[in-house]
Amino acid sequence: MSKRDYYEVLEVAKTATVEEIKKAYRKKAIQYHPDKNPGDKEAEEKFKEAAEAYEVLSDPDKRSRYDQFGHQGVNGGFGGGFGGGGMSMEDIFSHFGDIFGGSFGGFGGFSSGGNRSRRRTNRGSDLRVKVKLTLKEIATGVEKKIKVKKYVSCKACNGTGAEKGTSYTTCSTCNGSGVVTRVQQTILGAMQSTTTCPTCGGEGRIITKKCPECNGEGVRLEEEVITLNIPAGVADGMQLSMSGKGNAARHGGVNGDLLILVEEEPHPELLRDENDLIYNLLLNFSTAALGGTVEVPTIDGKAKVKIDAGTQPGKVLRLRGKGLPSVNRYGVGDLLVNVSVYVPESLNTEEKRTIEKLGSSKNFAPTQSVKEKIFSKLRHMFD
Ligand SMILES: [Zn+2]
Ligand SMILES: [Zn+2]
Repeated sequence: MSKRDYYEVLEVAKTATVEEIKKAYRKKAIQYHPDKNPGDKEAEEKFKEAAEAYEVLSDPDKRSRYDQFGHQGVNGGFGGGFGGGGMSMEDIFSHFGDIFGGSFGGFGGFSSGGNRSRRRTNRGSDLRVKVKLTLKEIATGVEKKIKVKKYVSCKACNGTGAEKGTSYTTCSTCNGSGVVTRVQQTILGAMQSTTTCPTCGGEGRIITKKCPECNGEGVRLEEEVITLNIPAGVADGMQLSMSGKGNAARHGGVNGDLLILVEEEPHPELLRDENDLIYNLLLNFSTAALGGTVEVPTIDGKAKVKIDAGTQPGKVLRLRGKGLPSVNRYGVGDLLVNVSVYVPESLNTEEKRTIEKLGSSKNFAPTQSVKEKIFSKLRHMFD
């Protein structure tokens, strides 16, 4: 199923401010809340859709990637192992704190958790790495192995943090629910406000004896080699994410994501303009005048280019398909050869004499049509 435009989902303009987006989402979240629409699958879908749209549009980094690359830019449309995936209900409810200001369980008479357990699921933090890529690697896509230090689940206690054979006691402050509820008087009447239990940190239980291997944390810092499958066509500044490859969570739970920031190494001879490559060809004067064949560098070798007699500087030759593939797999860019002409910097007496002789020929004076052509090109450049 193709996804709807996020701005359309929240019914906001592309220029909407963060405040407007928040407000729009709040409206949708109330309208489609599962507790208000029990058993209504369509409402649930709409509820999730709005949450996903909000998740992207409320984050400036994700929003700009979405604006540039669409859904592909934000939820793992890259293929090759870059999973994004939808949001779970737990993810969605975990956002409600900043949407409704504090975590109001009783907003408008429904509880944000419904009958679900509100016990918090821990999520590990995201791990950020930079990966340097050459244009050649970007052209084909590449597999990179990187060494990272990250929190992994402790094997001795299976990530629970409790020593093997020992167990937990239910937290007496919250009776295992992980939250404490208070009733507050506000101008809108009595409002239930729910906060994370301070005693157990929202886990609902307390470890009676800590695992000695991880000191009760459930995670240990370890070095790990991760294989990154970088898709072809990525660009400098792009961020890829591999879900679940980040740090493990304390006391079990969901892993964070691995975020990969792409850095592009400059190529010694080729410039990049989106999916096109640009090469500046410094043509020798006699080839420009008489024509011939020259070699130009490409991303994976060389290509022969035919030069017509009388080729003027500023001419652009287009080698179709010799550019970079699009990251969305919509075609391949071109290699643009920008022609300029090399004027000799030092000459011997004989060469000077020959050129002097040629220079006085009327063929060495620029024709009106060439003058006009170059001038009109210049005019377009400044349009
Ligand atoms: Zn342990
Ligand atoms: Zn508690």
